[in-house]
Amino acid sequence: MNPSTDLLERPLRDLRISVTDRCNFRCRYCMPKEIFGDDYAFMHGSELLSFDEIERLVSLFVGLGVRKVRLTGGEPLLRRGLPELISRITAIQGVEDLGLTTNGLLLGSQAQPLYDAGLRRLNISLDALNPRRFGYMNGRGIKPEQILKRIDYARSIGYKIKINMVVQKGMNDMEILPMADYFRERGITLRFIEFMDVGNDNGWRQDYVVSQDAILKKLRTRYELEPVHHGVYGEVANYYRHAGTDTEVGFISSVSNSFCSSCTRARLSSEGKLYTCLFATEGYDLRSLMRRGADDAVLLQAIKRTWEHRLDQYSDERGEDDQPQTRKGKINMSYIGG
Ligand code: SAM
Ligand code: SF4
Ligand code: SF4
Repeated sequence: MNPSTDLLERPLRDLRISVTDRCNFRCRYCMPKEIFGDDYAFMHGSELLSFDEIERLVSLFVGLGVRKVRLTGGEPLLRRGLPELISRITAIQGVEDLGLTTNGLLLGSQAQPLYDAGLRRLNISLDALNPRRFGYMNGRGIKPEQILKRIDYARSIGYKIKINMVVQKGMNDMEILPMADYFRERGITLRFIEFMDVGNDNGWRQDYVVSQDAILKKLRTRYELEPVHHGVYGEVANYYRHAGTDTEVGFISSVSNSFCSSCTRARLSSEGKLYTCLFATEGYDLRSLMRRGADDAVLLQAIKRTWEHRLDQYSDERGEDDQPQTRKGKINMSYIGG
């Protein structure tokens, strides 16, 4: 079957799967604890897509063009039995790349079993090296040292690692240079992510965003950086190399320099809804279809139709609008997967 393309000629290439809506952190820009408190109604086990369902869907998505799969959440390492899911996905013919995005806290016990199951690439989120600042940002007082130790451990096993840092003005922009120093010394790619207006609960404001240009300017006070073009269609990050080294820094500048025109990503929420944009307000309920007994042909048609009707380009349309919430009813990132 030919790869599906949407109404803006964008092929379906990537699938991001949220394997749980729960998290052991309460990052203020994602799951602020005032909203995700003790009585927050997270999903029950039976509401989550089962491994059989995920495996089945991944195979169908591959038939429509998907080559890259990423597991995310919530915190994906909280999903029980994850190594089994990894080995099932790596066994699917056509999946060329499988990655996982994590806050890293549970890597101490999970890095090895996941590696043994076939996982090779990790994106680990870390927003600051200062303990008080990081503890405040993650909402749980977790110390950066705890994550740094696990990064070293995962590296020693053999993982390819990238670090993600969400930058917010007045919160952690003073950490840009210390973080760049730390990861440059270790030869690890650090990616700076512009603070996004995902969901409706994270207090986003345009003036909290630190743009790629501003970050780059700061970095260039200390380093010589050369642009690098990886030439990968659908790549969301821009990369620069520290001159004279192989170490890169990346930028995911979805606010100041959006990349909707080459966005090839579909997202599956933990309860099996298909979203064609991170800022979507509605998803297509594939779980219900599966649990009503739909066969593969019906499911395939549903996915294909959803992708082929896609017109999403939220970040491009956001433009210069600096209103706090430009669209109501957006889905939270912990639910849809970042
Ligand atoms: N819990 C895992 C983690 O933190 O890596 C995976 C899920 S998290 C939603 C995925 C990524 O989204 C993380 O790198 C996180 O920093 C980023 N993220 C969450 N909220 C964000 C926001 N408002 N703006 C930009 N990035 C955000
Ligand atoms: Fe949890 Fe990741 Fe969201 Fe932080 S960014 S609250 S670690 S899901
Ligand atoms: Fe893709 Fe939507 Fe983000 Fe644009 S706003 S890059 S369409 S996920």
